[in-house]
Amino acid sequence: MSFDLKKIREEFPILQQKIYNRPLVYFDNAATTQRPQQVIDALIRTYTEYYGNIHRAAHFLADKATLAYEETREKVRKLINAETREQIIFTKGTTESINLAAFSFGEAFIHEGDEIIVSEMEHHSNIVPWQLMAGRKGAKIVMLPIDDEGRLLIENMETLITPRTKLIAVAHISNVLGTINPIRQITQIAHSKGIRIFIDGAQAAAHLRIDIQDLDVDFYAFSAHKMYGPNGVGVLYGKKELLEQLPPYQGGGEMISEVKFSGTTYNELPYKFEAGTPNISGVIAFGAAIDYLENLGIENAAARETELLNYATAELSQIPGLRIYGTQSEKSGVISFNVDGVHFFDLGTMLDKFGIAVRTGRHCTDPLMDHFDIQGTVRASFAFYNTKEEIDVFIEALKKVISMF
Ligand code: PLP
Repeated sequence: MSFDLKKIREEFPILQQKIYNRPLVYFDNAATTQRPQQVIDALIRTYTEYYGNIHRAAHFLADKATLAYEETREKVRKLINAETREQIIFTKGTTESINLAAFSFGEAFIHEGDEIIVSEMEHHSNIVPWQLMAGRKGAKIVMLPIDDEGRLLIENMETLITPRTKLIAVAHISNVLGTINPIRQITQIAHSKGIRIFIDGAQAAAHLRIDIQDLDVDFYAFSAHKMYGPNGVGVLYGKKELLEQLPPYQGGGEMISEVKFSGTTYNELPYKFEAGTPNISGVIAFGAAIDYLENLGIENAAARETELLNYATAELSQIPGLRIYGTQSEKSGVISFNVDGVHFFDLGTMLDKFGIAVRTGRHCTDPLMDHFDIQGTVRASFAFYNTKEEIDVFIEALKKVISMF
């Protein structure tokens, strides 16, 4: 391992605590990650040293805040290798990024009878905004199915695509199955037929090195809180020629060029899509999270998470009656499972008593739960700061809980 795990864990204050008198084992990283001290410090520093409203005033505090806010935009651009900073739009999270894209894309390009392809493994936030837009426009949502291993049936795409298909929306990584989807391949198919591609990168941005130019996608969305950054901050990336053709999503301050009762003109990118006062301190602290990740090396973090995934998968597979959902080889550090005869909710609640935080339920993926004909799962999801020893504690506790039923 090329990094010092003990030191890394010390950088995350929340990991130091005990829950029910046991050391906290935090395996709910797919829901939200924890923050290192330098991100917390950046938040505090913003509020104590240079907080002011950005882009508007001519005073020192506002200037400093504006500079720091725009610095984060450049850090995001570099992180995902986007061509220009104008293509990085700050939102309050992946969900808002998807709603923005669905609304504005729909207004500009979708007509009655058009079709949007959405995969069966999507989080509700990459389904419902497209449904809302389709409802408004008289368009149709078409589902791209998966197989029982949790693999997208890409070979079905050719038959699902029609001359009316305008966009394909797919997650980079599934929040339940952990499946890493072959985005370049999907994009090539879509673009060869003139179809736009939207990628929900909520589960990918902290775990894969994203090269947006190489992926060649039209839109890409992610959330800072899943990347060791603050909550309430997200990003929408878009191709510049596409963003330029889209109408604004929300109206208000900042997004305008000139307002007259006879008609309003809009600001240039990216401000056209950033109406109102944004999460200034959050965006600035997101910059600190990106610095942290870059320092650590996303590749190093990913390698460590794969190690943890493989170790936990091997251990879990030995437990009789335990089924893992999502068994693709291209997989990130997320394991969803059920155990015969034990309700997932009981498992989660009992594991909590051992100080272990896992997710239970439907994970905002009703169609995926329907595919497997289940009501929910237990989900353990790893970050680079987790350890093999924590997995041992988890497995031992899990066996104890199962033996009680
Ligand atoms: N998409 C995926 C795949 C997710 O896992 C999540 C959150 O869990 C979201 C979208 C929504 O992200 P947010 O709640 O940060 O908007």
